[in-house]
Amino acid sequence: MSDLSFLDWPFFEPRHRDLAARLDDWCAAHLPVDHSDVDAACRSLVAMLGQGGWLQHSGAGEGERLDVRTLCLIRETLARHDGLADFAFAMQGLGMGPVSLFGSPAQRAWLDRTRAGTAIAAFALTEPGSGSDVAATTTTATRVQGGWLIEGEKTWISNGGIADVYVLFARTGEAPGARGLSAFLMPADTPGLEVAERLEVIAPHPLATLRMKGLVLPEDALIGRPGEGFKLAMSVLDVFRSTVGAAALGFARRALDEALARVKARRIQGQALAELQMVQGHLADMALKIDAAALLVYRAAWTKDNGAPPSSCMAATGCAMARSSKACTAKSGPCGFTRAQATSSVSSSRGASCRDLPPPNPDRVQPL
Ligand SMILES: Cc1cc2nc3c(=O)[nH]c(=O)nc-3n(C[C@H](O)[C@H](O)[C@H](O)COP(=O)(O)OP(=O)(O)OC[C@H]3O[C@@H](n4cnc5c(N)ncnc54)[C@H](O)[C@@H]3O)c2cc1C
Repeated sequence: MSDLSFLDWPFFEPRHRDLAARLDDWCAAHLPVDHSDVDAACRSLVAMLGQGGWLQHSGAGEGERLDVRTLCLIRETLARHDGLADFAFAMQGLGMGPVSLFGSPAQRAWLDRTRAGTAIAAFALTEPGSGSDVAATTTTATRVQGGWLIEGEKTWISNGGIADVYVLFARTGEAPGARGLSAFLMPADTPGLEVAERLEVIAPHPLATLRMKGLVLPEDALIGRPGEGFKLAMSVLDVFRSTVGAAALGFARRALDEALARVKARRIQGQALAELQMVQGHLADMALKIDAAALLVYRAAWTKDNGAPPSSCMAATGCAMARSSKACTAKSGPCGFTRAQATSSVSSSRGASCRDLPPPNPDRVQPL
């Protein structure tokens, strides 16, 4: 059982502590799910998280705001129990983030569905030639009679192939580079949208390359104003940035739990592995790094909730991700790296992708 005394820290309010305790109980009763069919597992997780009411926190209704500490606590807790559950939650939030922050009342109908767990969301920004460098986006959205003609390709799209709705970023050309992009709501059944390829990764989750050919979206598919796509994407990533560190923290806490159980059970040279001084030192080091990472993550979340500028959360989150990931791999012996080990199943989510640390400056788009 992980040490949850961090919940007493002053970054949290009673509602956060209450939510974390309730979610931990829910996770113990419902997770992990069977991962053998990843698409089915993700669909079922979205439905379960919706029925449990947890996905309500993945979006913000009109007049509400996304609470970053809540998002972090949910991601950390889910990641500790089942990495794919964290992935399912995170993508509902990230995918519909543009609608949460900038969506019109009509577009919010999709948000109601993703928050209820009856629709799956995805965020389609990356292209084969534009990852860190979002300003190099080549997918085009051209005004045509009654709407927008979309042509291009997106890749590395989480939930690609199982999503019901994508938020798509395309070049509308108001200005060169980052200032000429816009965001669109694209239902998965729109004619002209093809899942060109499903991508296989070592930590399986739904991931695909999408192709848009002769695809027409209606006028009202545009989210926000033309030319604001980059700003919109960065605003969303800014909210979810610290939550990536929180997920890594959940994996690290689980790794420590597994390592502790292992060193207590494993006997070597007539004693438990846990009785060896060097092993105790390694475990103490893991616990220390996890505590430091938690402080960084929740301070970043707290500062964001209190209106801090994005850059101040960014360094803290990057540092916390690095610390958490390192602690996560510092486990007990080679079996820590086998797929059969629970530690490998908890890390079976997107985890910390470089996408989550882009810079906010549209003029000088620093790749990651
Ligand atoms: C598992 C997974 C899930 C993903 N899910 C999504 C998704 O749902 N939606 C979506 O839109 N995208 C998604 N992505 C894409 C992801 O966000 C991109 O991979 C990321 O933005 C990096 O882009 P790239 O892969 O093209 O790498 P590149 O941009 O080609 O970068 C390659 C390397 O160069 C480094 N680099 C780049 N520029 C600089 C610089 N100026 N200085 C120093 N180093 C630099 C980068 O850090 C990186 O290590 C996903 C990726 C993965 C792996």
